[in-house]
Amino acid sequence: MIGKRLACKWSVLGVVVSSMWSAAGAQPATPDTIYVNGKVFTADARDSVAEAFAVAGDRFVAVGSNAQVRKLAVAGTRVVDLKGHFVSPGLADAHFHNEGGGTGIDLSHVRSLAELMVTVANAAARAEPGTLVISNQDWHEAQLKEQRLPTARELDQAAPNNPVVLVRGGHSYILNTRALAKFNITKDTPVPAGGEISREADGELSGELFDNAKALVQLPAAKPLALDDILATQKALNPYGLTAVRIPGSYRGDMLQALKLMRQADGEHALTLRYTVYMPGFALRTPQQVNDAIAKWGVNQDEGDDFVRVGGIKLIVDGGFEGGHLSRSYQEPYGKGGTYPGLTVSPPDAYNSVVLEINRLGWRAATHAVGDAGLDQVLTAYELANKDRPLIGKRWTVEHAFIARPDLVKRMQNLKLMVSAQDHLYLAAPVLKRYWGWDLASEVTPLKTYLDAGLLVAGGTDSPVIPFNPFWELYHFVTRDTISDGTYGNDQKVTSRTSLLRLVTINYALLIGEEDRRGSIEPGKLADFAVLTDDFLSAPVEAIPNMKALLTYVGGKEVYRDPGYRDD
Ligand SMILES: [Zn+2]
Repeated sequence: MIGKRLACKWSVLGVVVSSMWSAAGAQPATPDTIYVNGKVFTADARDSVAEAFAVAGDRFVAVGSNAQVRKLAVAGTRVVDLKGHFVSPGLADAHFHNEGGGTGIDLSHVRSLAELMVTVANAAARAEPGTLVISNQDWHEAQLKEQRLPTARELDQAAPNNPVVLVRGGHSYILNTRALAKFNITKDTPVPAGGEISREADGELSGELFDNAKALVQLPAAKPLALDDILATQKALNPYGLTAVRIPGSYRGDMLQALKLMRQADGEHALTLRYTVYMPGFALRTPQQVNDAIAKWGVNQDEGDDFVRVGGIKLIVDGGFEGGHLSRSYQEPYGKGGTYPGLTVSPPDAYNSVVLEINRLGWRAATHAVGDAGLDQVLTAYELANKDRPLIGKRWTVEHAFIARPDLVKRMQNLKLMVSAQDHLYLAAPVLKRYWGWDLASEVTPLKTYLDAGLLVAGGTDSPVIPFNPFWELYHFVTRDTISDGTYGNDQKVTSRTSLLRLVTINYALLIGEEDRRGSIEPGKLADFAVLTDDFLSAPVEAIPNMKALLTYVGGKEVYRDPGYRDD
């Protein structure tokens, strides 16, 4: 589709404007629509800013000055005046599970323990005595004034007659006393490997179970995933200019079922969000299990179309905020007298063999690693696999990579590893500070270090762990500000606005290997773009978290329009 391009450059009011045509010397395809009078950040190789562009079918066919693009109009070409608004390539989230919410108690808006207790008490009062009360997972204690979890005993006061399980993010459950009894969890219950059962100072169970200890609790199956869930996700994301997400191993419930529904929606031309799906390899411990899982999934890597594609296999080596594997023990008392450095969820020998087999089979892995020792474990396995069969250039990634020791960055450079980074600190900073101490917490997600090292980094949120709003993410990366605890790690600010937008546009496309067909506003690429409320390149930082899309387009089609926005 993309012919040889003619590129010329000139300057309008000090702004470099680029013009690119779809084929050398030839006029571009006749456009259906031309968009003029914009400030168009193209995310091309030179970060060019243009005034106008043209779309034919689902593709961009020209980008340039108003005069150049207007010339392409023929009878029937629609002309849209962008009225000076800022346009970005469609935004993407490289680590997105789902948009949050669900059928359980909604704790996403509570801001104190008192509010949380009232919300739980109300839900329990509506439930039959004795029946299990469960929360949605999209909340975190860092959003609470007290910056801590409720205890089992506190939950008992809110819900004395019902077992309660608060599901918090992807790593923790918090149970009240009735729920601990229901699932036969006592002070004598052995702690499962790769998990933790928290205790209070007096030795009583606090009610919190994390990582592999969650398996002690069997929650009723969620309502079966349906097409409506897929449609709800895109409806929630399109207003923020989001046009693509990469789903690392879990969406809502069964990933294979989600993939089936996404393909069904795709077949019905109902998708307004592009999905790259990683299959769940969390439980794989042997090469045989890798083969069995791939056979069971019945999919091939990279199969799919521009809306739904299989990207690889998602693995995990350590825990989250309370279980990220560090090279030293946690801050006391969480370090338990120097004995607790976090969790190893996949033992090294098993993980190494799984990575080796995935590489031998020609698949790629994306591994969750939070702590520096976790990242070390990932690098060791990837290095071993790379010796067996080169994986450099095959877009293997590490997900999260909270801590970058210089020696680890060097090894990441050697493997040309790609980094999928998120803004966890924005919400969870106080929790990380409590568990890891200020020094380490302030270093979390060292974006500047990674970019300076020349690593390819794509941005994301880990929603619902952190809300999916991409402008919160970009605000955090430019300021290192947090919701409730001030600025963390000034030296990791990334102040280049173009670098930030690249994280969620062209870098995303590079990470998923589709940079030849999306991620920038260039002729021949899919016409995914967003007209934003503010000029992202020059808006004051305080305006960034409140930005949204006025219009969002996927494949040239309008998929979102701000109710107050008019073309003329
Ligand atoms: Zn995740």
